[in-house]
Amino acid sequence: MSTPVVTRFAPSPTGFLHIGGARTALFNWLYAKHTGGKMLLRIEDTDRERSTKAAVDAIIDGLKWLGLTWDGDPISQFSRVDRHREVAEELVKKGQAYYCYATPEELTEMREKARAEGKPPRYNGIWRDRDPSKAPKGVKPVIRIKAPQQGETIVHDRVQGDVHFPNKDLDDFIILRSDGTPTYMLAVVVDDHDMGVTHVIRGDDHLTNAARQTILFNAMGWDVPVMAHIPLIHGADGAKLSKRHGALGVDAYRAMGYLPVALRNYLVRLGWSHGDDEIMSTEDMISWFDIDDINKGAARFDFKKLEAINGQYMRMSDDKDLFDAALSILPEIEGGKELEAKLNEKNRSEFLKGMPELKERAKTLVELIDNAAFIFSDRPLKLDEKATNLLNDEGKTILKGIYSALESCTEWTKEKLDHIIRNYAEEAQLKLGKVAQPLRAALTGRAVSPGVFDVLVILGRDESLGRIRDQIA
Ligand code: GLU
Repeated sequence: MSTPVVTRFAPSPTGFLHIGGARTALFNWLYAKHTGGKMLLRIEDTDRERSTKAAVDAIIDGLKWLGLTWDGDPISQFSRVDRHREVAEELVKKGQAYYCYATPEELTEMREKARAEGKPPRYNGIWRDRDPSKAPKGVKPVIRIKAPQQGETIVHDRVQGDVHFPNKDLDDFIILRSDGTPTYMLAVVVDDHDMGVTHVIRGDDHLTNAARQTILFNAMGWDVPVMAHIPLIHGADGAKLSKRHGALGVDAYRAMGYLPVALRNYLVRLGWSHGDDEIMSTEDMISWFDIDDINKGAARFDFKKLEAINGQYMRMSDDKDLFDAALSILPEIEGGKELEAKLNEKNRSEFLKGMPELKERAKTLVELIDNAAFIFSDRPLKLDEKATNLLNDEGKTILKGIYSALESCTEWTKEKLDHIIRNYAEEAQLKLGKVAQPLRAALTGRAVSPGVFDVLVILGRDESLGRIRDQIA
Protein backbone atom coordinates (compact mmCIF):
# COMPACT_ATOMS: atom_id res chain seq x y z
CA MET A 1 0.00 0.00 0.00
CA SER A 2 1.37 3.42 -0.86
CA THR A 3 1.73 6.04 1.89
CA PRO A 4 -1.32 8.22 2.31
CA VAL A 5 -1.07 11.66 0.78
CA VAL A 6 -0.40 14.59 3.10
CA THR A 7 -0.55 18.08 1.59
CA ARG A 8 -0.23 21.36 3.38
CA PHE A 9 -1.16 24.96 2.94
CA ALA A 10 1.51 27.18 4.45
CA PRO A 11 0.55 30.84 4.37
CA SER A 12 2.63 33.61 5.91
CA PRO A 13 0.28 35.67 8.07
CA THR A 14 1.47 39.05 6.89
CA GLY A 15 -1.78 39.97 5.19
CA PHE A 16 -5.19 38.65 4.16
CA LEU A 17 -5.75 35.41 2.27
CA HIS A 18 -5.20 36.67 -1.25
CA ILE A 19 -6.67 35.09 -4.32
CA GLY A 20 -3.47 33.26 -5.31
CA GLY A 21 -3.16 31.78 -1.84
CA ALA A 22 -6.80 30.73 -1.94
CA ARG A 23 -6.18 28.83 -5.16
CA THR A 24 -3.09 27.15 -3.69
CA ALA A 25 -5.15 26.10 -0.67
CA LEU A 26 -7.91 24.84 -2.95
CA PHE A 27 -5.52 22.71 -5.01
CA ASN A 28 -3.99 21.22 -1.85
CA TRP A 29 -7.42 20.53 -0.44
CA LEU A 30 -8.68 18.95 -3.64
CA TYR A 31 -5.65 16.74 -4.01
CA ALA A 32 -5.92 15.56 -0.42
CA LYS A 33 -9.64 14.84 -0.87
CA HIS A 34 -9.09 13.20 -4.23
CA THR A 35 -6.55 10.78 -2.78
CA GLY A 36 -8.31 10.25 0.53
CA GLY A 37 -5.37 11.93 2.27
CA LYS A 38 -5.01 14.91 4.56
CA MET A 39 -4.40 18.60 4.19
CA LEU A 40 -2.57 20.32 7.02
CA LEU A 41 -2.47 24.03 7.75
CA ARG A 42 0.83 25.56 8.76
CA ILE A 43 0.99 29.20 9.67
CA GLU A 44 4.44 30.45 8.72
CA ASP A 45 4.72 33.04 11.44
CA THR A 46 8.47 33.09 12.02
CA ASP A 47 8.72 36.70 10.84
CA ARG A 48 7.62 38.15 14.17
CA GLU A 49 7.54 41.71 12.98
CA ARG A 50 5.30 41.17 10.00
CA SER A 51 3.08 38.36 11.29
CA THR A 52 -0.12 39.45 12.98
CA LYS A 53 -2.96 37.74 14.77
CA ALA A 54 -5.40 39.68 12.58
CA ALA A 55 -3.81 38.14 9.48
CA VAL A 56 -4.01 34.63 10.94
CA ASP A 57 -7.71 35.21 11.66
CA ALA A 58 -8.32 36.61 8.18
CA ILE A 59 -6.66 33.57 6.58
CA ILE A 60 -8.66 31.14 8.69
CA ASP A 61 -11.91 33.02 8.02
CA GLY A 62 -11.15 33.11 4.32
CA LEU A 63 -10.50 29.36 4.17
CA LYS A 64 -13.64 28.59 6.14
CA TRP A 65 -15.74 30.86 3.97
CA LEU A 66 -14.45 29.04 0.90
CA GLY A 67 -15.32 25.76 2.56
CA LEU A 68 -11.72 24.57 2.67
CA THR A 69 -11.05 22.49 5.73
CA TRP A 70 -7.81 21.16 7.12
CA ASP A 71 -6.97 18.23 9.34
CA GLY A 72 -5.93 18.80 12.93
CA ASP A 73 -5.06 22.14 14.49
CA PRO A 74 -3.19 24.80 12.54
CA ILE A 75 0.51 24.47 13.24
CA SER A 76 2.48 27.55 14.18
CA GLN A 77 5.91 27.45 12.59
CA PHE A 78 7.25 29.81 15.21
CA SER A 79 6.37 27.37 17.97
CA ARG A 80 8.82 24.91 16.43
CA VAL A 81 12.00 27.01 16.50
CA ASP A 82 13.71 24.75 19.02
CA ARG A 83 13.27 21.83 16.69
CA HIS A 84 14.57 23.87 13.75
CA ARG A 85 17.66 24.81 15.76
CA GLU A 86 18.18 21.19 16.75
CA VAL A 87 18.21 20.12 13.11
CA ALA A 88 20.66 22.88 12.19
CA GLU A 89 22.99 21.64 14.91
CA GLU A 90 22.53 18.07 13.82
CA LEU A 91 23.55 19.06 10.32
CA VAL A 92 26.74 20.57 11.74
CA LYS A 93 27.43 17.32 13.58
CA LYS A 94 26.89 15.35 10.42
CA GLY A 95 29.39 17.57 8.63
CA GLN A 96 26.63 18.82 6.35
CA ALA A 97 26.64 22.36 7.73
CA TYR A 98 29.14 24.63 9.47
CA TYR A 99 29.48 27.71 11.62
CA CYS A 100 30.36 30.80 9.66
CA TYR A 101 31.96 33.77 11.41
CA ALA A 102 32.23 36.08 8.41
CA THR A 103 31.92 39.69 9.49
CA PRO A 104 29.50 42.14 7.84
CA GLU A 105 32.54 43.83 6.25
CA GLU A 106 33.74 40.56 4.75
CA LEU A 107 30.27 39.84 3.39
CA THR A 108 30.01 43.29 1.85
CA GLU A 109 33.40 42.82 0.26
CA MET A 110 32.31 39.44 -1.16
CA ARG A 111 29.20 40.98 -2.67
CA GLU A 112 31.11 43.85 -4.19
CA LYS A 113 33.73 41.60 -5.65
CA ALA A 114 31.06 39.40 -7.20
CA ARG A 115 29.27 42.43 -8.59
CA ALA A 116 32.51 43.77 -10.10
CA GLU A 117 33.00 40.39 -11.81
CA GLY A 118 29.44 40.50 -13.08
CA LYS A 119 28.46 37.47 -10.97
CA PRO A 120 25.44 37.09 -8.70
CA PRO A 121 26.26 37.95 -5.07
CA ARG A 122 27.16 34.61 -3.53
CA TYR A 123 28.85 33.57 -0.33
CA ASN A 124 32.35 32.41 -1.15
CA GLY A 125 32.58 29.61 1.38
CA ILE A 126 35.46 30.99 3.47
CA TRP A 127 34.37 29.16 6.61
CA ARG A 128 33.39 26.00 4.81
CA ASP A 129 36.61 24.21 5.53
CA ARG A 130 38.24 26.55 7.99
CA ASP A 131 39.16 25.19 11.38
CA PRO A 132 36.55 26.38 13.89
CA SER A 133 39.37 26.98 16.39
CA LYS A 134 40.20 30.01 14.22
CA ALA A 135 36.85 31.50 15.17
CA PRO A 136 37.15 35.10 16.28
CA LYS A 137 36.27 35.73 19.90
CA GLY A 138 32.93 37.28 20.72
CA VAL A 139 31.41 36.79 17.26
CA LYS A 140 28.13 34.91 17.13
CA PRO A 141 28.22 32.64 14.11
CA VAL A 142 25.48 31.72 11.69
CA ILE A 143 25.07 28.16 10.46
CA ARG A 144 25.38 27.56 6.74
CA ILE A 145 24.58 24.45 4.78
CA LYS A 146 27.46 22.79 3.02
CA ALA A 147 25.84 22.77 -0.37
CA PRO A 148 27.22 20.67 -3.20
CA GLN A 149 29.51 22.79 -5.38
CA GLN A 150 29.67 20.63 -8.48
CA GLY A 151 26.98 19.23 -10.66
CA GLU A 152 23.39 20.24 -10.39
CA THR A 153 20.37 19.92 -8.19
CA ILE A 154 17.28 18.71 -9.97
CA VAL A 155 13.80 19.50 -8.80
CA HIS A 156 11.53 16.76 -10.15
CA ASP A 157 8.43 18.84 -10.47
CA ARG A 158 5.08 17.28 -11.35
CA VAL A 159 3.98 20.44 -13.12
CA GLN A 160 7.19 21.96 -14.46
CA GLY A 161 9.00 18.71 -15.24
CA ASP A 162 12.66 18.29 -14.21
CA VAL A 163 14.12 21.67 -13.43
CA HIS A 164 17.93 21.78 -13.32
CA PHE A 165 19.82 24.14 -11.04
CA PRO A 166 23.62 24.29 -11.45
CA ASN A 167 25.00 23.96 -7.93
CA LYS A 168 27.48 26.75 -8.50
CA ASP A 169 24.48 29.09 -8.46
CA LEU A 170 23.24 27.83 -5.11
CA ASP A 171 25.71 28.91 -2.47
CA ASP A 172 26.11 27.85 1.15
CA PHE A 173 22.98 29.62 2.32
CA ILE A 174 22.27 30.39 5.97
CA ILE A 175 20.00 27.98 7.83
CA LEU A 176 20.35 29.40 11.35
CA ARG A 177 20.89 33.10 12.01
CA SER A 178 23.37 34.36 14.59
CA ASP A 179 20.50 35.05 16.99
CA GLY A 180 19.58 31.37 16.86
CA THR A 181 16.48 31.80 14.71
CA PRO A 182 15.97 29.52 11.72
CA THR A 183 15.70 30.83 8.21
CA TYR A 184 12.58 30.20 6.17
CA MET A 185 14.46 27.63 4.09
CA LEU A 186 15.30 25.46 7.08
CA ALA A 187 11.95 25.84 8.84
CA VAL A 188 9.98 24.72 5.78
CA VAL A 189 12.08 21.59 5.29
CA VAL A 190 12.04 20.54 8.94
CA ASP A 191 8.29 21.15 9.21
CA ASP A 192 7.43 19.42 5.94
CA HIS A 193 9.44 16.43 7.08
CA ASP A 194 8.10 16.31 10.63
CA MET A 195 4.52 16.82 9.48
CA GLY A 196 4.90 13.92 7.07
CA VAL A 197 4.11 16.08 4.05
CA THR A 198 4.21 13.95 0.92
CA HIS A 199 3.18 16.59 -1.64
CA VAL A 200 4.19 20.24 -1.77
CA ILE A 201 1.79 22.14 -4.01
CA ARG A 202 2.48 25.89 -4.13
CA GLY A 203 3.14 28.86 -6.40
CA ASP A 204 6.02 28.64 -8.84
CA ASP A 205 7.62 31.67 -7.21
CA HIS A 206 8.99 29.04 -4.80
CA LEU A 207 10.76 26.98 -7.47
CA THR A 208 14.26 28.23 -6.66
CA ASN A 209 13.53 27.65 -2.98
CA ALA A 210 12.62 24.10 -3.94
CA ALA A 211 16.19 23.54 -5.16
CA ARG A 212 17.66 24.82 -1.89
CA GLN A 213 15.14 22.81 0.08
CA THR A 214 16.04 19.69 -1.90
CA ILE A 215 19.65 20.20 -0.78
CA LEU A 216 18.49 20.35 2.84
CA PHE A 217 16.31 17.24 2.54
CA ASN A 218 19.23 15.37 1.04
CA ALA A 219 21.64 16.63 3.69
CA MET A 220 19.37 15.19 6.38
CA GLY A 221 18.83 12.01 4.40
CA TRP A 222 15.11 12.66 4.29
CA ASP A 223 12.78 11.90 1.39
CA VAL A 224 12.06 14.90 -0.79
CA PRO A 225 8.30 15.35 -1.06
CA VAL A 226 6.65 15.36 -4.45
CA MET A 227 6.83 18.92 -5.72
CA ALA A 228 4.19 20.66 -7.81
CA HIS A 229 4.77 24.32 -8.54
CA ILE A 230 1.71 25.98 -9.99
CA PRO A 231 2.11 28.88 -12.42
CA LEU A 232 1.10 32.18 -10.90
CA ILE A 233 -2.11 33.98 -11.71
CA HIS A 234 -1.78 36.91 -14.08
CA GLY A 235 -4.16 39.72 -14.90
CA ALA A 236 -6.53 39.54 -17.85
CA ASP A 237 -3.95 41.52 -19.87
CA GLY A 238 -1.21 38.98 -19.08
CA ALA A 239 0.64 41.30 -16.68
CA LYS A 240 1.52 40.35 -13.14
CA LEU A 241 -1.59 40.33 -10.98
CA SER A 242 -2.12 43.69 -9.30
CA LYS A 243 -4.95 45.01 -7.16
CA ARG A 244 -6.64 46.38 -10.26
CA HIS A 245 -6.61 42.89 -11.76
CA GLY A 246 -8.10 41.22 -8.74
CA ALA A 247 -5.13 40.59 -6.44
CA LEU A 248 -7.36 41.12 -3.45
CA GLY A 249 -8.18 39.32 -0.28
CA VAL A 250 -10.86 36.68 -0.28
CA ASP A 251 -12.83 38.99 2.04
CA ALA A 252 -12.96 41.55 -0.76
CA TYR A 253 -14.60 38.97 -3.03
CA ARG A 254 -17.16 38.25 -0.38
CA ALA A 255 -17.89 41.98 -0.09
CA MET A 256 -18.20 42.20 -3.88
CA GLY A 257 -21.04 39.74 -3.61
CA TYR A 258 -19.51 36.52 -4.90
CA LEU A 259 -20.71 33.22 -3.55
CA PRO A 260 -18.00 31.00 -2.09
CA VAL A 261 -19.03 28.04 -4.25
CA ALA A 262 -18.80 30.18 -7.35
CA LEU A 263 -15.42 31.61 -6.41
CA ARG A 264 -14.18 28.11 -5.69
CA ASN A 265 -15.44 26.88 -9.04
CA TYR A 266 -13.82 29.84 -10.75
CA LEU A 267 -10.51 29.32 -8.94
CA VAL A 268 -10.27 25.62 -9.72
CA ARG A 269 -10.39 26.47 -13.40
CA LEU A 270 -7.53 28.95 -13.02
CA GLY A 271 -4.66 26.74 -13.99
CA TRP A 272 -6.40 23.38 -14.00
CA SER A 273 -8.96 21.92 -16.33
CA HIS A 274 -11.05 18.86 -16.93
CA GLY A 275 -11.97 18.90 -20.58
CA ASP A 276 -14.31 21.79 -21.26
CA ASP A 277 -16.17 21.47 -17.98
CA GLU A 278 -16.88 24.86 -16.46
CA ILE A 279 -19.51 24.46 -13.78
CA MET A 280 -18.81 21.49 -11.57
CA SER A 281 -20.02 20.22 -8.26
CA THR A 282 -17.64 19.80 -5.36
CA GLU A 283 -17.91 16.02 -5.75
CA ASP A 284 -16.94 16.25 -9.41
CA MET A 285 -14.08 18.59 -8.63
CA ILE A 286 -12.74 16.17 -6.05
CA SER A 287 -13.08 13.13 -8.24
CA TRP A 288 -11.55 14.84 -11.28
CA PHE A 289 -8.74 16.84 -9.71
CA ASP A 290 -5.25 15.61 -10.38
CA ILE A 291 -1.86 17.27 -10.35
CA ASP A 292 -1.12 16.03 -13.86
CA ASP A 293 -3.86 18.24 -15.25
CA ILE A 294 -2.46 21.45 -13.81
CA ASN A 295 -1.54 23.74 -16.69
CA LYS A 296 2.03 24.82 -17.25
CA GLY A 297 1.19 28.29 -18.47
CA ALA A 298 0.15 31.22 -16.28
CA ALA A 299 -3.56 31.52 -15.71
CA ARG A 300 -5.35 34.79 -16.38
CA PHE A 301 -7.74 36.26 -13.90
CA ASP A 302 -10.88 37.45 -15.60
CA PHE A 303 -13.55 39.28 -13.63
CA LYS A 304 -16.10 38.88 -16.43
CA LYS A 305 -15.77 35.14 -16.28
CA LEU A 306 -16.02 35.09 -12.50
CA GLU A 307 -19.17 37.21 -12.72
CA ALA A 308 -20.72 34.92 -15.28
CA ILE A 309 -20.03 31.85 -13.14
CA ASN A 310 -21.34 33.62 -10.07
CA GLY A 311 -24.53 34.56 -11.93
CA GLN A 312 -25.03 30.92 -12.87
CA TYR A 313 -24.57 29.80 -9.27
CA MET A 314 -26.99 32.44 -8.07
CA ARG A 315 -29.66 31.20 -10.44
CA MET A 316 -29.05 27.62 -9.29
CA SER A 317 -29.19 28.60 -5.62
CA ASP A 318 -32.07 27.96 -3.31
CA ASP A 319 -34.01 31.19 -2.63
CA LYS A 320 -33.65 31.04 1.10
CA ASP A 321 -29.91 30.31 0.90
CA LEU A 322 -29.46 33.29 -1.36
CA PHE A 323 -31.54 35.44 0.93
CA ASP A 324 -29.35 34.45 3.88
CA ALA A 325 -26.18 35.04 1.87
CA ALA A 326 -27.38 38.49 0.83
CA LEU A 327 -28.27 39.50 4.37
CA SER A 328 -24.96 38.19 5.68
CA ILE A 329 -22.91 40.56 3.53
CA LEU A 330 -24.93 43.69 4.35
CA PRO A 331 -22.43 44.93 6.95
CA GLU A 332 -19.67 44.74 4.36
CA ILE A 333 -21.22 46.57 1.42
CA GLU A 334 -21.82 50.21 0.64
CA GLY A 335 -25.10 51.35 2.13
CA GLY A 336 -25.60 47.87 3.58
CA LYS A 337 -25.65 48.97 7.20
CA GLU A 338 -28.52 51.37 6.51
CA LEU A 339 -30.43 48.56 4.83
CA GLU A 340 -29.73 46.27 7.72
CA ALA A 341 -31.14 48.80 10.14
CA LYS A 342 -34.35 48.89 8.14
CA LEU A 343 -34.91 45.15 8.10
CA ASN A 344 -38.24 44.07 9.49
CA GLU A 345 -40.57 41.16 9.07
CA LYS A 346 -42.44 42.75 6.19
CA ASN A 347 -39.52 43.67 3.97
CA ARG A 348 -37.71 40.45 4.78
CA SER A 349 -40.64 38.44 3.52
CA GLU A 350 -40.96 40.67 0.45
CA PHE A 351 -37.29 40.21 -0.29
CA LEU A 352 -37.62 36.45 -0.04
CA LYS A 353 -40.77 36.50 -2.12
CA GLY A 354 -38.96 38.48 -4.82
CA MET A 355 -35.99 36.12 -4.92
CA PRO A 356 -37.02 33.95 -7.90
CA GLU A 357 -37.25 37.11 -9.99
CA LEU A 358 -34.32 38.96 -8.43
CA LYS A 359 -31.85 36.10 -8.81
CA GLU A 360 -32.48 35.89 -12.54
CA ARG A 361 -31.23 39.42 -13.04
CA ALA A 362 -28.13 39.71 -10.92
CA LYS A 363 -24.60 38.43 -11.31
CA THR A 364 -23.53 39.25 -7.76
CA LEU A 365 -25.23 39.55 -4.40
CA VAL A 366 -24.41 43.26 -4.42
CA GLU A 367 -26.31 43.66 -7.66
CA LEU A 368 -29.14 41.55 -6.27
CA ILE A 369 -29.39 43.74 -3.17
CA ASP A 370 -29.28 46.86 -5.29
CA ASN A 371 -32.08 45.54 -7.49
CA ALA A 372 -34.06 44.82 -4.34
CA ALA A 373 -33.51 48.31 -2.94
CA PHE A 374 -37.10 49.31 -3.79
CA ILE A 375 -38.35 46.85 -1.19
CA PHE A 376 -36.57 48.76 1.53
CA SER A 377 -37.54 52.26 0.38
CA ASP A 378 -39.79 54.30 2.61
CA ARG A 379 -42.79 56.21 1.35
CA PRO A 380 -42.86 58.67 -0.19
CA LEU A 381 -40.07 57.32 -2.38
CA LYS A 382 -37.11 59.44 -3.44
CA LEU A 383 -37.09 59.30 -7.24
CA ASP A 384 -33.87 59.26 -9.18
CA GLU A 385 -33.49 61.60 -12.15
CA LYS A 386 -34.76 59.19 -14.77
CA ALA A 387 -37.75 58.23 -12.66
CA THR A 388 -38.54 61.91 -12.13
CA ASN A 389 -38.52 62.43 -15.89
CA LEU A 390 -40.81 59.46 -16.40
CA LEU A 391 -43.27 61.01 -14.00
CA ASN A 392 -43.82 64.16 -16.02
CA ASP A 393 -47.37 65.37 -16.67
CA GLU A 394 -47.99 62.71 -19.27
CA GLY A 395 -46.59 60.02 -16.99
CA LYS A 396 -48.73 61.17 -14.11
CA THR A 397 -51.87 61.09 -16.25
CA ILE A 398 -51.11 57.51 -17.20
CA LEU A 399 -50.41 56.66 -13.58
CA LYS A 400 -53.77 58.06 -12.50
CA GLY A 401 -55.49 55.85 -15.02
CA ILE A 402 -53.60 52.78 -13.80
CA TYR A 403 -54.42 53.64 -10.24
CA SER A 404 -58.14 53.46 -10.79
CA ALA A 405 -57.78 50.24 -12.75
CA LEU A 406 -55.68 48.66 -9.99
CA GLU A 407 -57.77 49.94 -7.12
CA SER A 408 -60.61 47.69 -8.10
CA CYS A 409 -58.33 44.64 -8.22
CA THR A 410 -58.86 42.36 -5.27
CA GLU A 411 -56.98 39.31 -6.42
CA TRP A 412 -53.43 40.64 -6.41
CA THR A 413 -51.68 38.00 -8.51
CA LYS A 414 -49.21 38.39 -11.32
CA GLU A 415 -51.72 37.05 -13.88
CA LYS A 416 -54.53 39.34 -12.77
CA LEU A 417 -52.27 42.39 -12.63
CA ASP A 418 -50.83 41.60 -16.02
CA HIS A 419 -54.32 41.34 -17.42
CA ILE A 420 -55.51 44.63 -15.88
CA ILE A 421 -52.56 46.64 -17.06
CA ARG A 422 -52.58 45.22 -20.57
CA ASN A 423 -56.26 46.00 -20.79
CA TYR A 424 -55.66 49.47 -19.60
CA ALA A 425 -52.91 50.05 -22.17
CA GLU A 426 -55.09 48.73 -24.95
CA GLU A 427 -58.00 50.95 -24.01
CA ALA A 428 -55.78 53.97 -23.72
CA GLN A 429 -54.14 52.97 -27.03
CA LEU A 430 -50.71 53.00 -25.48
CA LYS A 431 -47.85 50.58 -25.80
CA LEU A 432 -47.35 48.42 -22.71
CA GLY A 433 -43.92 49.99 -22.10
CA LYS A 434 -45.41 53.45 -22.11
CA VAL A 435 -47.69 52.39 -19.27
CA ALA A 436 -45.19 50.26 -17.41
CA GLN A 437 -42.47 52.91 -17.19
CA PRO A 438 -44.28 55.53 -15.07
CA LEU A 439 -45.65 52.70 -12.96
CA ARG A 440 -42.17 51.35 -12.41
CA ALA A 441 -40.90 54.82 -11.53
CA ALA A 442 -43.63 55.26 -8.92
CA LEU A 443 -43.11 51.80 -7.42
CA THR A 444 -39.34 51.69 -7.32
CA GLY A 445 -38.11 55.27 -7.74
CA ARG A 446 -36.01 54.10 -10.67
CA ALA A 447 -36.28 53.56 -14.42
CA VAL A 448 -34.91 50.00 -14.22
CA SER A 449 -36.12 47.26 -11.97
CA PRO A 450 -37.33 43.69 -12.04
CA GLY A 451 -40.49 43.11 -14.10
CA VAL A 452 -43.14 45.55 -13.05
CA PHE A 453 -45.78 42.85 -12.42
CA ASP A 454 -43.33 41.10 -10.13
CA VAL A 455 -42.68 44.36 -8.31
CA LEU A 456 -46.41 44.80 -7.74
CA VAL A 457 -46.69 41.29 -6.34
CA ILE A 458 -43.61 41.64 -4.15
CA LEU A 459 -44.78 44.91 -2.65
CA GLY A 460 -48.37 43.77 -2.23
CA ARG A 461 -51.58 45.68 -2.78
CA ASP A 462 -51.48 48.30 -0.03
CA GLU A 463 -47.87 49.31 -0.46
CA SER A 464 -48.17 49.41 -4.27
CA LEU A 465 -51.30 51.55 -4.25
CA GLY A 466 -49.78 53.77 -1.59
CA ARG A 467 -46.64 54.36 -3.64
CA ILE A 468 -48.71 55.24 -6.71
CA ARG A 469 -50.90 57.57 -4.71
CA ASP A 470 -47.84 59.39 -3.40
CA GLN A 471 -46.94 60.35 -6.96
CA ILE A 472 -50.36 61.43 -8.22
CA ALA A 473 -51.68 63.22 -5.19
N1 GLU B 1 4.82 30.80 3.44
C1 GLU B 1 5.04 30.78 2.03
C2 GLU B 1 4.15 31.81 1.35
O1 GLU B 1 3.18 32.25 1.94
C3 GLU B 1 4.74 29.43 1.41
C4 GLU B 1 5.80 28.46 1.72
C5 GLU B 1 5.58 27.10 1.10
O2 GLU B 1 4.48 26.80 0.60
O3 GLU B 1 6.53 26.35 1.10
O4 GLU B 1 4.43 32.18 0.22
